[in-house]
Amino acid sequence: MGKSSPHIPFAPALSSATTEEIVPRHNLSEAGIDLEGVRRLSRRFLGFVPGDRLSELAGESEVIGAAEADLTATLAKGVLRIAGEIRCPVRLQCARCLEQFATELHAEVECAYLPGSDPAEADSQQEMVEEVTYLPDYHISIAALIEEELLLAMPMIPLCKPECAGLCPECGADRNQEDCQCRPTHRDTPFALLKNFNKV
Ligand SMILES: [Zn+2]
Ligand SMILES: [Zn+2]
Repeated sequence: MGKSSPHIPFAPALSSATTEEIVPRHNLSEAGIDLEGVRRLSRRFLGFVPGDRLSELAGESEVIGAAEADLTATLAKGVLRIAGEIRCPVRLQCARCLEQFATELHAEVECAYLPGSDPAEADSQQEMVEEVTYLPDYHISIAALIEEELLLAMPMIPLCKPECAGLCPECGADRNQEDCQCRPTHRDTPFALLKNFNKV
């Protein structure tokens, strides 16, 4: 291992330029990164945001526990990268049977940020193909990032289970629970519609 660079085993000049900080699992509600004047940084955010701090997410679902996050932030060459995982237990309403069901939102995070508002300020020839977000006030809130990512992880069409049979369009019975007497062919043929018109 030491054979490739025997004369500089620990590279002290380089390591002193990097901030290594391991944060134990803790409440991330107020966690953030101030990037003003910071050139290099490496920081791990391992912890949780209590459910009652996720007010935007609570508007879209019933938050039934804390959001758990394990994120690593690294700043190098003017670009802040945040990567890791976020999970949060929620209760959603099934789009087919309308039952409430408990599930877990899961977000895999891989974000890039450019501190500052002017692209010219970033001291790198960043390939601009990837999507970056500017941080004009040189600050990022970890709790806000966690909530944003969880909102993006919300399913477009929540289903209690992939094979949920839903409600009978005729009598409203939950077809996961019971077989109603309605004939299933009705809903697939145009005659079903005509039949309903005749009833009215
Ligand atoms: Zn369902
Ligand atoms: Zn029915």
